[in-house]
Order: sequence, then structure tokens, then C-alpha cells
Amino acid sequence: MTLRTLGAISLTLVLAACSQTPTGRSQLTLFSDQEINQMGDQSFQQYQQKLPTVGGATADYVQCVAHAVTAQTGSGESWEVKVFKDDSANAFALPGGHIGVNTGLLQVAKNQNQLATVLGHEVAHVLAHHANERVSTQAATQTGLSVLQSAAGLEGQGGQQLMGLLGMGAKYGILMPFSRKQESEADTLGLNLMARAGFDPRASIDLWKNMEANSQSQPPVWLSTHPSHGQRIDGLQAQMDQALQLYRQARDAGRTPDCQRPG
Ligand SMILES: [Zn+2]
Repeated sequence: MTLRTLGAISLTLVLAACSQTPTGRSQLTLFSDQEINQMGDQSFQQYQQKLPTVGGATADYVQCVAHAVTAQTGSGESWEVKVFKDDSANAFALPGGHIGVNTGLLQVAKNQNQLATVLGHEVAHVLAHHANERVSTQAATQTGLSVLQSAAGLEGQGGQQLMGLLGMGAKYGILMPFSRKQESEADTLGLNLMARAGFDPRASIDLWKNMEANSQSQPPVWLSTHPSHGQRIDGLQAQMDQALQLYRQARDAGRTPDCQRPG
């Protein structure tokens, strides 16, 4: 075998493992959707065993917002939505169609439009295959071995690391914040997603201002390496005209969500 053929083969392997995000950025994805969804399923199951969930009007409200947002993903699948009793202002979405919202987030996301901002953002991480990208990048390094070895059981440090890579963290698992690129991608896609669901995209600015005010006393760890609030708000403002257009189209088409926030 010549060096040239060898080069061609390894190039093929690299290309096969590369895909594109919805915003056109190329990313490393070593796992099939099925594999990554299975990791998400297992992590969500595990998380539910660790933290108490909340039902009733609070769960109805969160599910109402979440289902309106996920209806716009085009997957046609229904997402599982759980509310966890936890004071930290956190939420996450996992591959395989799972959403977790902490009760603490509802103190910061003060209405359905603000909550849709967070859920749009988290669901966008899933749609852009960020979990696959993160697990793949990790697997390409030596520490990735422990991640893969424990993928089945999710016990021990490797399992916690995997859950962190998938997008959970803080409370359970090792916190591994998304990169700046992944964050701005999730902002862009999430804003369009909420607008298409009929939620007012201008609420995204209020939400991040609330987050900023909230984090002055006790910064939520998952936000620590996110872009600064100012940069994030500038990015959202730059896209607002386009998002408002999508929002008005959605309202005209009868997508007018009215989720009742419990008092
Ligand atoms: Zn994010």
C-alpha cells in the first residue's frame, strides 16, 4: 500500500466522522444518532433516580412551553419533560428527546416567553448534535476511554463525565460547559425555534438580564464559561428582526401558546 492510498483511507475515515451543524460549522461526530440517543436515555433515567420531580400545575406549565417549542423541531417525536425540585436556575435537554427543568429556573424565567428562551436554547444544543461532538472529541483523547467504558453503566467518574458531556452537570455529573461556538449556535437556533413556536423572541433579552441579576449573588456554575451576558445580548439583538418575522408568521398561522404559569 502506498502512502498515498493510506492517506486517502484515513481522509475517508475523517470525512465519514464529520458532519455539519445547522449553522454550517463542521463537527466531529463519531457516534450514530442511535448510540448518542441511548446515552441520553440512560443519563435521564439515572438523573431521575437522584433528584425528586415535581408534578401538578408546575409540571403542566413547563410541559406546555416545552411541547410548543419541540413541536417546531420537525422531528415529529414527542419529548419527555420533567421538572426537578432544585433551587439552582438550571435546565438541560438530552439526545433521545428529554428535557429537565429545575424549579429554581422558574424564579429567573418569569413568563412563558422567557422559559421558551431557555428551552429553545437547550433543545438547539441537541438539534446541533453538540453532545455527539463533545463525546466524540473526548473519545478521541485518552481520557475518552473511561467515558466509553462506563457508557453502559454510567457509574463512577467516567459515567459522570459522560453525563456532563451530554449537557447535564452541576448537580449530578461533572460540569462541562459548552464551548463559545456551541453556545452562540444554540442562541441562534434557539431564538428561531421559540419564535416559530409563537413565543416573543424579545423576551430572550429580558431572560438574560434576569440571569445576570440572579447570578450576581450566586453565579450558576453552568453559566460560568458561557459568553458574557453583554455579548450574548448583542448577538440576540443582531438577529431580532429576523426572529420577529418568524414570530409574526407563527402568530398569523395560529401558533399562539398560552401556558398558564402557576401563581
Ligand atoms: Zn448552552
